Amino acid sequence: MALLAVLPALVWLFVGCLFPHWLPALPLSTVQVVSGAIGVFLLLTLFFRQWRWTHWAPWLAGNAGAFYLAEQSDTVNALPIWWVLSSLWLSFAPVPSLRTWSGKGLFILLLGLPLGLLWPPLGAGIAALNPSHWLMTATLRDDYPQLAYGLFVLAIAGTWATFLMYQVSAAYRWAQWAAWLVMMALLLTGSAPDALSWTVIVAATGLIVALADQLLRLAYIDELTGLPQRRALMSQLQHLKRRSAVCMLDVDHFKKFNDKYGHDVGDQVLRLLGRILAEQKGLKAYRYGGEEFTLVFAHNEQARLKTQLEEVRKAVASYPLSIRDASRPKRGNEGKQQRGQSKVQNKHVKVTISLGATVRAKNDTAEAILKRADENLYSAKKAGRNRVVLR
Ligand code: GH3
Ligand code: MG
Ligand code: MG
Repeated sequence: MALLAVLPALVWLFVGCLFPHWLPALPLSTVQVVSGAIGVFLLLTLFFRQWRWTHWAPWLAGNAGAFYLAEQSDTVNALPIWWVLSSLWLSFAPVPSLRTWSGKGLFILLLGLPLGLLWPPLGAGIAALNPSHWLMTATLRDDYPQLAYGLFVLAIAGTWATFLMYQVSAAYRWAQWAAWLVMMALLLTGSAPDALSWTVIVAATGLIVALADQLLRLAYIDELTGLPQRRALMSQLQHLKRRSAVCMLDVDHFKKFNDKYGHDVGDQVLRLLGRILAEQKGLKAYRYGGEEFTLVFAHNEQARLKTQLEEVRKAVASYPLSIRDASRPKRGNEGKQQRGQSKVQNKHVKVTISLGATVRAKNDTAEAILKRADENLYSAKKAGRNRVVLR
């Protein structure tokens, strides 16, 4: 792994120092730049095993290749249709992983089909679907050749973006949208020199940034609650401000809760708790692990802390947790009968939390401050739960 990381630098040193006269013979042309950008993206997706991203590499490569080689207007007219259909499909349909045969087949199809559009009958067939043929009359089309195309791109980009805004805001979905959009825009700027290189670099960079965002999330964000998790907390505690405070928080009698309503309902409660904590002002919440959370405050004023912690405690204790109760069966037989009827009702339950907090002392280490907060949490539990201990 380490060797792989330094290999490009070693090759560069080798060539740059020993054979510098080779370099002028290897000018960076469109083909090299484009394949380099796509290659880096492909390697990253493979290296991190992010299979659902991998197919955007052949998508970019095939489409860039077809654009580069296209000479007939039929091919040029067919490209945007293919770009719309294939990118929407890649973005929204369940794409098979590259490890499966259908995934490999799709990889080849994405690479090959755009090149297939260079074959006149296929290009003409798909070009017939081009909206400029039916959005505008022939004279208008001749006078304003870009207008129909621009309207078509705007309509799809707008609809797609609206959907993303309201349904999914994940960075990778936006990167896919952006990759598609810059390719569509390429046809408007097509004759500009190096437009293709820049388009692919922009698309690949967007995808790489979104991939990095996803990898950071995998490392730092807890999937269940959406809060940053222990690793993020520990790195935050390393550079805690001089005036700050930390609170450990634990759900009361959560084991009993799980036993009564089931683990799935317990998970729903943790998810809701994560949302409540994330909404609290003036603090940063982390999922420490299990049913334990940590709050970090950027001040050390006792009275203000006490008020804030009480607010958090009350916010949870008074929250009518609405859970989907599939009437968890107690006995096997009952279970079988009930499953047939599958009665799903919304049910209101309450949970409480105990909080143990402490302010940062001089020369506190992350472990020391967490330990003190944890001792205070233990005191809160012993004193009867659903309360705050701040010392
Ligand atoms: P106490 O008031 O003393 O904290 O009692 P408790 O039952 O909450 O304490 P204990 O630490 O014994 O139990 C914690 C329980 O939390 C055990 C486990 O079933 C539950 N738990 C931990 N992580 C998860 C999770 O991710 N999902 C669900 N559903 N339950 C979890
Ligand atoms: Mg616990
Ligand atoms: Mg507990």
